[in-house]
Amino acid sequence: MTKKAISAPQKRKWVRLTRACNNRCLFCLDADALDGRHESLDGITSALREGREEGCRRVVLSGGEPAIHPEFIRIIGLARQLGYTHVQVITNGRMFSYSEFLRQAVKAGLSEVTFSVHGASAAQHDRLAGVPGAFSQTLLGISNAVKIRGLIVSSDIVVNGVNVDSLFEIVSLLHRLKINEYDLLHLIPFGRAWKNWKILSYNPLDKKNIFRRVFRFAEAAGAHLWTNRFPLPLLEGEERYMQHPDKILDEVRGARSVFNKFIRSGKKMFCSGRRCRFCVLEQFCLDLEKLRAAGFLRAAPVPRCLPGKPFERKRVSGGSDVMEIAAFYIRERMTVKAAACAQCRENIRCRGAHVKTVMQKGFSALVPVGRV
Ligand code: SF4
Ligand code: SF4
Repeated sequence: MTKKAISAPQKRKWVRLTRACNNRCLFCLDADALDGRHESLDGITSALREGREEGCRRVVLSGGEPAIHPEFIRIIGLARQLGYTHVQVITNGRMFSYSEFLRQAVKAGLSEVTFSVHGASAAQHDRLAGVPGAFSQTLLGISNAVKIRGLIVSSDIVVNGVNVDSLFEIVSLLHRLKINEYDLLHLIPFGRAWKNWKILSYNPLDKKNIFRRVFRFAEAAGAHLWTNRFPLPLLEGEERYMQHPDKILDEVRGARSVFNKFIRSGKKMFCSGRRCRFCVLEQFCLDLEKLRAAGFLRAAPVPRCLPGKPFERKRVSGGSDVMEIAAFYIRERMTVKAAACAQCRENIRCRGAHVKTVMQKGFSALVPVGRV
């Protein structure tokens, strides 16, 4: 694998418009926060202003289902007036089956619509979305959107035990609908997804062939494909699909006060336990426990199989805000191992190589030092 630059994703402001939704997705991560209320226009305006002060030029309108907010069109216009150059909505797409509503949204300044599509058929999508008829409305929304010149149309697919065997068919469907940008989202153990874990969970490593087929198909079609929250060992040999490490910051930011309380209180996280091994933050949370015990964290050493100084002096203290700790973790301690590490005599002592090194050099750069 040749060395490549890893550029950080463009800074985006996520703004929640509502705590209501017209779908009842089996895997909804947000279910515990959905009480049916819409956010006030004042609150949304402050969040939009805050994003501009943070230097964001892109805004992502989210929910619940953001398009059912009664002031949805006005909010898009407001975002534009405040200086956002790209206004994106993440949606189940049902409201956009009304072509006039979509036309007004685009006229107000909507730049991108990301449709959630979770099934290759009405039966599969509607089962996951929890609403009969959702699929046909979403597909009508997509067909309305792709006709609008200049509007970017993309898709999110939450990959889970119900639809993973149909993933190739879902992606093929997106292409037939003229969508060639999509993000595969890995299921994480929160909200309704955790309640329905028995139905929804699967082992991604058992489905490597399906993912490989989808990646090759997307490449042949010239599509833009991203992965989100997938366990990194799944992407051995597919390093170009590893998500940028900075995305961990968004995960931590969403629960900033919970993490800060955890660091200072000595108590357990509300979510710790059985679900941790399925969570994208598992390594980070283990590091926080070490930080609590020792009062600081050091940079991870470079593994023996790679050139470089084995130990670094850099450290972060337990008195820091969790966002500073997360930035340190991403820079200095976010590591991963290759399948070959199981054969290495350093395996027990070694934490693996930094994710960015693996993104640049590939997992194949981790060559066992002696054999067990
Ligand atoms: S790894 Fe951390 S954030 Fe994830 S479930 Fe466990 S305690 Fe919660
Ligand atoms: S091969 Fe794996 S276990 Fe061995 S030194 Fe390299 S990263 Fe560590």
